[in-house]
Amino acid sequence: MSSVRTNIQPNLLDYEETLTSFSWDNIAGELSGLPQGKGLNIAYEAIDRHSTGNLKDTVAFRFIRKNRVVDDFTYSMLQKQTSKFANVLKNLGIKKGERVFSLAGRIPELYITALGTLKTTAVFCPLFSVFGPEPVFQRMNKGEASVLVTTSALFEKKIKQLMEKLPSLRFIILSDAAGHLSGKVLSWSKLMEQASDEFIIPKTDPEDPALLHFTSGTTGMPKGALHVHKAVLTHYITGKFVLDFHPGDIFWCTADPGWVTGTSYGIIAPLVNGVTSIIDEEEFDAKRWYSILEEHKVNIWYTAPTAIRRLMRMDINVKETYDFKNLRVILSVGEPLHAEAVIWGEENFGFPILDNWWQTETGGIMIANYASVKVKPGSMGKPLPGVEAAIAKVNDKEITIISSPDKQGHLVLKKGFPSLFRAYLNDEERYNKCFLGEWYLTGDLAKKDADGYFWFIGRADDIIKTSGHMVGPFEVESTLMKHPFVSEAAVIGKPEPSIGELVKAFVVLKSGNEPNDEVKMNIMGFARKEMGPAVAPKEIEFVESIPKTRSGKILRRLLKARELGLPEGDISTLEQN
Ligand code: ATP
Ligand code: MG
Repeated sequence: MSSVRTNIQPNLLDYEETLTSFSWDNIAGELSGLPQGKGLNIAYEAIDRHSTGNLKDTVAFRFIRKNRVVDDFTYSMLQKQTSKFANVLKNLGIKKGERVFSLAGRIPELYITALGTLKTTAVFCPLFSVFGPEPVFQRMNKGEASVLVTTSALFEKKIKQLMEKLPSLRFIILSDAAGHLSGKVLSWSKLMEQASDEFIIPKTDPEDPALLHFTSGTTGMPKGALHVHKAVLTHYITGKFVLDFHPGDIFWCTADPGWVTGTSYGIIAPLVNGVTSIIDEEEFDAKRWYSILEEHKVNIWYTAPTAIRRLMRMDINVKETYDFKNLRVILSVGEPLHAEAVIWGEENFGFPILDNWWQTETGGIMIANYASVKVKPGSMGKPLPGVEAAIAKVNDKEITIISSPDKQGHLVLKKGFPSLFRAYLNDEERYNKCFLGEWYLTGDLAKKDADGYFWFIGRADDIIKTSGHMVGPFEVESTLMKHPFVSEAAVIGKPEPSIGELVKAFVVLKSGNEPNDEVKMNIMGFARKEMGPAVAPKEIEFVESIPKTRSGKILRRLLKARELGLPEGDISTLEQN
């Protein structure tokens, strides 16, 4: 399956050739660096270097408000606004390395905060606006927030009650307050009014901390991953090679900046590459999304399997209803993208959806399908040039790289690419445990085929050991989803003394199907035929919905805890329906 469909030549034309010629030093040479050799700063690469040249009047961000009113910010406007905010922080006495948090929906102030903070060399940490007070407290406390930018409504609802418990919090800036509320609770517009729009970015070492991102909490308590300014090299080159940004492109990343995708690709990568980003303030809505793609002539669209699966379930004839002639590349991240979804993309848009793999810890895309490389549906693709990925056998203190193909093992990445996290906040021990020799252990299991494609097996924590077999839940879920009655499935291992663990599936049926024994037997029979009796689920439970994180990842640990009557653990990122 090839995904080249228009006359635009992909930036990454020859994968194999690029692998051999690639060097991170050359990539650094494609960026500008701060004037007078003052280092490397993400915000300078993203905005300032574009704001006086050809791109100054190009739209950097197009905000689509909930009521569909559009608010455009050109590169030069964004440059001034972010410089103003940098001066606000400077005037408040915020120093290098201090943490500036945001808690807001996808409003312009959030984006200006992110980039303005990076200009000052303070550290930006975005929080998801729907977090309740406890998860907000935990993250701000752990991250020792100095400043929080939020809205009046969120302040009233979530922050006021926390203020006493957060001694490091010096200022709260309200995006929509007309005047200051106190010496500590300040008005965005008042502060911005008084600040100059000229700001010279101070010396920034490429190793200076820039971003703090909390993980999704799929496998346990969310961890705070710290990234440095040098990560911009990965943002830039993945934007060029994977998202395939070309001058004039309109790009839409649907992720919220509260997750790493919404910052690395919802803010930084498109700006560094000088394209226009669409930012929709509203949450998922199939018809709204399709109409945005059409109306705003989106060329490149980066979304997640959870959204794609929801679109697939809708009864909409995409081809007949919409005109997507501008759309050139669709990408997905966050969870495995089932082969069916890749093929659905091909059928409805005329080209396959490009799955890619990465983590909060890696700061940017690591393994990907590319516009110019043959897609094998169900595979995550091949490593980014400049990144060495491998499958390994890992024992306590030893790591052995498995070179023969199709063998299941730990997915590991060789240290040395610029966007690898530099710390887990306040958890050095856990951080150290992620490394063995020159390798970073991702915590995921995968295999690599003879053509160099990587295939996701599962998270090491989710693997089911049944009758001497190692079963990845994703494989079972994918098979179940091929059954015509099944809409969604989640699979766990349930302790069963005779066989170790029993494969149990939670299944959501497509509407119109009765959850009865006959249907259950039918699905079980299908699974046995497809996967063999050792791997097929021995128990199926019909459910209305499957618990997921707000970023759409199946919370198998929660299903398991509930099944076993154990404490639910951290559920701060659980999506509440
Ligand atoms: P936590 O680390 O707190 O448990 P998390 O791992 O879900 O949460 P993220 O960093 O947001 O937090 O997610 C990265 C993980 O998501 C990867 O390690 C992998 O398990 C999964 N993932 C991301 N992209 C893909 C993909 N394309 N295919 C399969 N799995 C993916
Ligand atoms: Mg993780």
